[in-house]
Amino acid sequence: MSNPSGIPVPNAASDAPTTLDVQRIREDFPALHQQVNGKPLVYLDSAATTQKPLSVIQAVRQYYEKDNSNVHRGVHTLSARATESYETARIKVQRFINAADAREIIFVRGATEGINLVANSYGRKHIRAGDELLITAMEHHSNIVPWQLLCEEKDAHLRVAPINERGEVVLESYEKLITDRTKLVAITYISNSLGTINPVKEMIELAHRRRVPVLVDGAQAGPHLPLDVQEIGCDFLVVSGHKMYAPTGIGALYGKLELLESMPPYQGGGEMIQSVTFEKTTYNDVPHKFEAGTPNIADAVGFGAAIDYLNALGMQAIAAHEDDLVRCAIAALSAIPGLRFIGTARDRAAVVSFTIENIHPHDIGTILDQEGIAIRTGHHCSQPVMDRFGVPATSRASFGLYNTHAEIDSLVAGIYKAKELFSLE
Ligand code: PLP
Repeated sequence: MSNPSGIPVPNAASDAPTTLDVQRIREDFPALHQQVNGKPLVYLDSAATTQKPLSVIQAVRQYYEKDNSNVHRGVHTLSARATESYETARIKVQRFINAADAREIIFVRGATEGINLVANSYGRKHIRAGDELLITAMEHHSNIVPWQLLCEEKDAHLRVAPINERGEVVLESYEKLITDRTKLVAITYISNSLGTINPVKEMIELAHRRRVPVLVDGAQAGPHLPLDVQEIGCDFLVVSGHKMYAPTGIGALYGKLELLESMPPYQGGGEMIQSVTFEKTTYNDVPHKFEAGTPNIADAVGFGAAIDYLNALGMQAIAAHEDDLVRCAIAALSAIPGLRFIGTARDRAAVVSFTIENIHPHDIGTILDQEGIAIRTGHHCSQPVMDRFGVPATSRASFGLYNTHAEIDSLVAGIYKAKELFSLE
């Protein structure tokens, strides 16, 4: 199945352009062209979810208009087409993250479900009383709570590698926390609340020295970096389609084949079985063993279209554009009196978190919304990060491949407006 029945799938474009024509790209995104509260929308919330290009919207629409059927079981033409579209999307994900085999890709609802699958299947099989699991202090709740549930059930312990004032993992502490008791490490590639890019390859090597498998939460990395699971050497990786310009409700779990084959099913039902009697059920091969029930076929097809879109632009060019935006945003925001950055890592991605003296982040968010500017305010599903920096919440601007320098100017002007309003009260 690593190269199944001749399905033609374009490779990740090595000849993709090195820069982005952002004005042209913006034409691909209908949602960007609207007024919000009487102002042109400035969408700076892509870390929460990205807008969708027309090619993705059309792929889903075309699937429902022409190919809609159930996968794998049917002999009729529509079922064959639906199956081919769904399995082609799997191969696109495989190539996008450079997995060795398409069977290593399990379609799930998103990063959250991928992590829960590993916790419930791998975790339940391998974690015992007294074992330890290691995460970092910058994890999204999705990469904390499933492990806490597992630890509670198994009487195991969750250990947390600390982060420094810049919001970087303290690698010496991380290394020391990996002991003979450690049975799994789960780390984010890019922090959604701080923007930190973790040195995952090095962190994985440190864990592997002690034969500890590593899950990488790639939810924020998928839209931003070229991903290569073989290069970084992770055992599991999760990505969310909706953060990669694909529909909501679809994502992928990558797992090394031998690990997936050794793991028990996550959910029971149709698709995941080989044969069923009341006495005994045998299970399907991976990946189908982990895809019980009718899958989210249309959105998997949309995910494939989003990957085509990213490949055509080129992940290097996307990363370079977003890095430029982040640098410009930091320079512009630094000039605002009373602004404190939360997260100043040396290696960082398309997220800028900050607080403004004497103004609650929710007020900033509400005033910016009046200006048509969408940012996210709150704890960003990372309450331990807020505790670490002694703030209840932050304002977070996050960038996608369609954002412009002019939108950073609008953000800065909006923040000055908020400051003015608050100084008048
Ligand atoms: N991990 C990180 C770092 C995230 O930013 C998010 C979503 O914001 C998730 C996991 C969960 O992703 P989803 O809700 O799409 O499952």
